[in-house]
Amino acid sequence: MTKDIYVIVEHRQENIRDITFELLTKGYELSKDRGKLNAVLLGYQNEKLVDSLKPFADTIINIEDERLKDFNAEYYQIALSSLLQEKKPFITLTGQTAFGIDFAPSLATSLDMPYTADCINVEIDNEKVLTEKQIYGGKVNSKVLLADNWGYIVSLRPGSFAPKEGELSAEVTTVPSAITEDIDYRNFVQYVEAVKGEVDITQSDIVIGIGRGIKEDKNLPLMEEFAKSIGGVLACSRPVVDAGWLPKDRQVGSSGKTVKPKLYIAVGISGAFQHVMGMKAADIIVAINKDPNAPIFTVADYGIVADLFQVIPKLNAKITEMKGA
Ligand SMILES: Cc1cc2nc3c(=O)[nH]c(=O)nc-3n(C[C@H](O)[C@H](O)[C@H](O)COP(=O)(O)OP(=O)(O)OC[C@H]3O[C@@H](n4cnc5c(N)ncnc54)[C@H](O)[C@@H]3O)c2cc1C
Repeated sequence: MTKDIYVIVEHRQENIRDITFELLTKGYELSKDRGKLNAVLLGYQNEKLVDSLKPFADTIINIEDERLKDFNAEYYQIALSSLLQEKKPFITLTGQTAFGIDFAPSLATSLDMPYTADCINVEIDNEKVLTEKQIYGGKVNSKVLLADNWGYIVSLRPGSFAPKEGELSAEVTTVPSAITEDIDYRNFVQYVEAVKGEVDITQSDIVIGIGRGIKEDKNLPLMEEFAKSIGGVLACSRPVVDAGWLPKDRQVGSSGKTVKPKLYIAVGISGAFQHVMGMKAADIIVAINKDPNAPIFTVADYGIVADLFQVIPKLNAKITEMKGA
């Protein structure tokens, strides 16, 4: 019996979200020699989305319904519950995103199916499903073996896998929507675009992330000088925003922005997973932290264990000297 892998496609305003390609990369690995990799697309007038998914899956299961045009977790749950019950895929992958976590728990409950949320990996070991999660704020990784069942749902954290180029050529299977009635208790209203600030931290090749380690807002000019001298922009961890030192649009992490610069320098940032999620895809990560056991060093390519108030002025002076030369 083949064991298919399903990836629930996350899309917004006619664009497929990055997490989908990360899940399809992992799904490809899981489906090898086991079954087919299926991208499950729920939406309305999906032609453009179908085309962009074709290289990444063996099959695209296309479910179209006007009520699926904009995301509504209630309709997703109804449509997916019926599909999974009928097709019985082995593992269904969703993103640990506002999208995935909105429907995955109720979907698993409706099917009485094992579900692990917020995973950083999933493997099949001897046909048993083993997921990996971070606990204690990212200090410990735990492996969770799921109880035997015909199917499983796993939500994977964004940034856990680098997406690969697709080399497949999916066939498209159209499945009728199982939604029979309109629901009135939850409706999509509108998209509200975030207000754009003066600086777009997602567009810069060099990002300097500052954290609670800078201690006070009176130290911001020192950090701004550093960012400017190195040709980067200033971003930050959440406590810096909570303290009102920088605006929300500079926050990196799970409840902030995801940045993928060539160089990310984390200054006085501990490396909580919520922060790391937003910057781990940077090409090169440098961390400056006085605590040698700070988790940020586990994702850093280069680490400087030192007091930032000694390092930053020295770096500023050196850059000025080099520019002068
Ligand atoms: C639902 C939820 C969502 C969240 N979303 C985000 C998010 O999007 N982004 C985010 O960043 N966080 C987020 N958080 C918060 C996150 O869990 C951490 O609390 C936060 O990232 C810690 O920020 P920090 O590293 O700046 O501060 P801390 O954890 O306090 O770390 C400060 C670091 O500075 C170092 N330090 C102190 N003084 C110096 C010095 N003089 N020189 C060098 N190093 C020094 C310390 O050793 C320490 O490692 C979220 C939390 C929750 C619960």
